[in-house]
Amino acid sequence: MPLKLAIVGRPNVGKSTLFNRLAGKKLALVDDQPGVTRDRRFAHGRLGDLDLELIDTAGFEDVTDESLESRMRAQTELAIDEADVALFVFDAREGLTPLDRIFAEMLRRRNKPVVVAANKSEGKQAEIGAAEAHRLGLGDPIPISGEHGEGMADLYAALLAVT
Ligand code: GDP
Ligand code: MG
Repeated sequence: MPLKLAIVGRPNVGKSTLFNRLAGKKLALVDDQPGVTRDRRFAHGRLGDLDLELIDTAGFEDVTDESLESRMRAQTELAIDEADVALFVFDAREGLTPLDRIFAEMLRRRNKPVVVAANKSEGKQAEIGAAEAHRLGLGDPIPISGEHGEGMADLYAALLAVT
């Protein structure tokens, strides 16, 4: 049985890039157009010997619009409910934003195993935001780089640890 993994987080943290890497293909569109509305995307993926059923959640760039924020929230909640594990992705170079905290709160309420990924951590950028992210109470953030494929062994170990 594959592990159903929902990749969640605010727009532009690198969810689709990670989805593509784990799927081994260019299945999810990497955001280059602000405001593009998309549904969840599904793909089969692999991490080490772990079979994954991946769920990518789309981004809504303009979250100052309340209806967009509620759509983003609904879509994320669906993905979390479908999944065995939620992978909460944030941008380690930017640290936590108010919108990150909204997603984190959503995850805390839903009672699903969560792994926190500090993405864009290639090089030495991992330290930024890590302590803050720890304080979210969702576990130790795993420094990764979806774009460069770094931290995948630690991500694998973290997924095994919560399942
Ligand atoms: P999403 O909106 O969360 O799905 O984010 P995307 O996957 O579309 O990526 C948003 C932007 O972040 C793109 O410009 C990516 O190239 C960039 N990005 C994604 N992963 C990484 C990473 O590991 N390191 C760096 N430096 N940039 C990344
Ligand atoms: Mg995306």
